[in-house]
Amino acid sequence: MWFGPTTSWRSAEAGSLQPASRILDELRRQRYGQMAIHLPLNTARIGAFSTHTAHPDVLDSMQAIISTALAGTYRISNPYLSLTKAEVVERVWTAMRDGVPVTSSCWRNTWLPEGVTHCGECVPCMIRRVAIETHGDDPTPYGRDSFAQNFSTMDADDEARRNLAALCEFSRKFETMSDADLIDEWPELNSDRDLINWTTIF
Ligand SMILES: [Zn+2]
Repeated sequence: MWFGPTTSWRSAEAGSLQPASRILDELRRQRYGQMAIHLPLNTARIGAFSTHTAHPDVLDSMQAIISTALAGTYRISNPYLSLTKAEVVERVWTAMRDGVPVTSSCWRNTWLPEGVTHCGECVPCMIRRVAIETHGDDPTPYGRDSFAQNFSTMDADDEARRNLAALCEFSRKFETMSDADLIDEWPELNSDRDLINWTTIF
């Protein structure tokens, strides 16, 4: 079960499409809203922070490449694209609440100290926490409770402060800017698909 951000095209997902087995003819990417479309939160976050690996247009291209390379008809879908993170969490929360703390969202999930499953500082950790707390108490053992700290006294170089500011700035733009201005700010939203309304965070 995976809420999270660190899947890649190098993983077993692609391997599962090998023609020798023909086990699957459909690959499901499980990214929701903004974490699928992956707009850079601000101009400083272009590049590795925003790889667009689950952007709908990228999935369409990968579907064509894989189908051509494997001489078959393969489909890549993302059933969570139009959901908010809270809506994704709700499915686990309702059906198997004990599963919530063992899901993974953190960018640093392989570099955490013992007893901690999430850093509490990275963008996915912050989004995860808001989404889970939409439904109740968050049982996740975070390395840091960034939300309990005073934003105004946090160091300017503090990663949690910078991530929180970027998230708030991004959310504010989607609350206040027109669709035309949003497309001007993020040209990758210029699509026949309803990408603006799918750019959900929480
Ligand atoms: Zn984290």
